[in-house]
Amino acid sequence: MEAEANTTESRNFIEQIIDKDLEEGRFDHVQTRFPPEPNGYLHIGHAKSILLNYGLAQEYHGKFNMRFDDTNPTKEKEEFVNSILEDIRWLGADWEDRLFFASNYFEQMYEAAVKLIKKGKAYVCDLSAEEIRQYRGTLTEAGKDSPYRDRSIEENLALFENMKNGVYEDGEKVLRAKIDMASSNINMRDPVIYRVAHMTHHNTGDQWCIYPMYDFAHPIEDAIEGVTHSICTLEFEDHRPLYDWVVRELEYPNPPRQIEFAKLYLTNVVTGKRYIKQLVEDGIVDGWDDPRLVSIAALRRRGFTPESIKMFVDLCGISKSQSSVDYAMLEYCIREDLNLKKPRIMAVLDPVKLVIDNYPEDQVEWFDVDNNVKNPELGKRKVPFSRELYIEREDFMEEPPKKYFRLYPGNEVRLMNAYFVTCTDYVKDETGKVVEIHCTYDPETRSGSGFNKRKVKGTIHWVSAGHAIPAEVRLYENIVDEEKGKLNEDGTLNLNPNSLTVLKNCYIEPSIENVKPEDKFQFVRNGYFCADMHDYTPEYPVFNRIVSLKSSFKLPK
Ligand code: ATP
Ligand code: MG
Repeated sequence: MEAEANTTESRNFIEQIIDKDLEEGRFDHVQTRFPPEPNGYLHIGHAKSILLNYGLAQEYHGKFNMRFDDTNPTKEKEEFVNSILEDIRWLGADWEDRLFFASNYFEQMYEAAVKLIKKGKAYVCDLSAEEIRQYRGTLTEAGKDSPYRDRSIEENLALFENMKNGVYEDGEKVLRAKIDMASSNINMRDPVIYRVAHMTHHNTGDQWCIYPMYDFAHPIEDAIEGVTHSICTLEFEDHRPLYDWVVRELEYPNPPRQIEFAKLYLTNVVTGKRYIKQLVEDGIVDGWDDPRLVSIAALRRRGFTPESIKMFVDLCGISKSQSSVDYAMLEYCIREDLNLKKPRIMAVLDPVKLVIDNYPEDQVEWFDVDNNVKNPELGKRKVPFSRELYIEREDFMEEPPKKYFRLYPGNEVRLMNAYFVTCTDYVKDETGKVVEIHCTYDPETRSGSGFNKRKVKGTIHWVSAGHAIPAEVRLYENIVDEEKGKLNEDGTLNLNPNSLTVLKNCYIEPSIENVKPEDKFQFVRNGYFCADMHDYTPEYPVFNRIVSLKSSFKLPK
């Protein structure tokens, strides 16, 4: 009994509704859908909706439909259809052969409208858009009936057919549902359900010059496909009575149920299409998949994995109340995902040369190094060591502050996976910049040799200068400044001027020789990195930093 109570408790409110529907026999199966409008790229918020809908279908052994809500010919583009499918496939949501386009139902939607007219539940209205708005009333004031509200069924049928046949100009006439101009819910005050629009549609071409409105089309799409639970975001809560009205008046035998949940918002990022479009058009970002954005394509290019996004969405949970999730939680998820799965290799991002004066000039040692000390299953690799290395510029200081345990004159450190070295000297150029550091090594201290006579406090990474592969590395920060406010007073984005740093002079150990675009690594001490999917070539390796290693982020309880 107790176990049962526990499972109920941990189920989210959508699962609870579905459980009840199945128990009470309202439905005998579960069918969900993801219904994007093909008018832009998908973002992390959509990923939540996709994984939620697909996950529920899986959980209940039901079906998941992929459906393009392409009923609005103005904003839609074929290009987006393809990018959306690619993103969903990458996330791992499988629609099998269940790919649908709402525009393929235009005929059925037209028939549905005719049915409403015949039932006396819809009428053709000649008021202009502005007049309709005035007649609609306000939150505190009831609306007024349109003078065309009482047209006969015959007249309405004839006029609606004329609308379909192109007799009228855009905006001249609309079809409205006949519900209640005094309803406390403004959405129920005789909403427009069809409009005249002489536009070419990406799928149906010029076949139609009338197009259904979203609130009429969406429930019909769901009902035609046999969707049981139509999950959408909170802004549609007030539209639910209209959704229910449409499926009831059209007398669908097992009408779908609409359930709303809160949209996912993230701190420190921009998700609004309008803003992203602006960033793309102004050339501030490198397209819709610039790694600083949170479109699914951008997250993928940055190096996030489908598993990390799924983990993130699961941690966020499903709720009815709006809130912003800390971007650091997404970073936590990718660290968790890559931690044991990916090799940890040495890369020097801001190099300075280290010369080991007492190491033989033409000697090279190849060390066997664990690919991931936390996961022996990843095996070992060979890493070359020689007299001239590169180390990070910040791992040396002429005059170290207290508690600086890395290299400085006279100090001894461990070269990771190799020997102890003691700094003996350094060389500066005419500008005062350190260009070369000298040291001596102790041959007895080789890593793995069991040497334990002395301890050193600092361990630094390195690459062999003669073997290292030059590479470009891109580091990212938030594109907007959350603390100072995402928006300026004039409504433009408050951009962070340091959101991208390009390092063109990095050196990476030669084990990256056979890397392919999208391969991921930990570069020890520097973070997790991903070979850029567009720009990486063996001749010119380019890596994106997915995330650094450290964070103050703690998982919420
Ligand atoms: P946007 O304007 O942010 O791109 P949208 O709602 O216009 O979002 P649609 O293509 O209409 O985009 O949405 C497809 C589905 O994704 C809808 O069911 C919608 O509710 C859901 N969705 C959109 N944004 C979010 C979000 N931030 N969190 C969760 N679900 C979302
Ligand atoms: Mg939309």
